[in-house]
Amino acid sequence: MRIAIDIDDTITRHPEFFSLITKLFKAAGHTVHVITYRAEREDAESELAEYAIVYDELILATGEELDRVGFYEWKADVCRQKNIEVLFEDMPEVINELDSSTLALMVVDPALGKVTYAD
Ligand SMILES: [Mg+2]
Repeated sequence: MRIAIDIDDTITRHPEFFSLITKLFKAAGHTVHVITYRAEREDAESELAEYAIVYDELILATGEELDRVGFYEWKADVCRQKNIEVLFEDMPEVINELDSSTLALMVVDPALGKVTYAD
């Protein structure tokens, strides 16, 4: 299985949980991608190391790619390119751009308010 995890407001919301999730997936032979809008690779890598996140690939957005495909569409596009089967993500705008081949598990912070559903 190929899974992907966002950093900000996803991993950062509960690093211990995502550390365990990534270790379990890797130990079971699955592939873990970290996909983020961050621009600084070294900062992201050191933060992931602090959180003890285990992953195969860290994918950062570039301004050119965001301009080419659109901000929210970029992460969905990466999921298509990498054949991501499960994405952990906090932004509904990103989830709305995913293909049906990717299952989205949305991280919701109750401190930000109640989740509402559209018809
Ligand atoms: Mg996020």
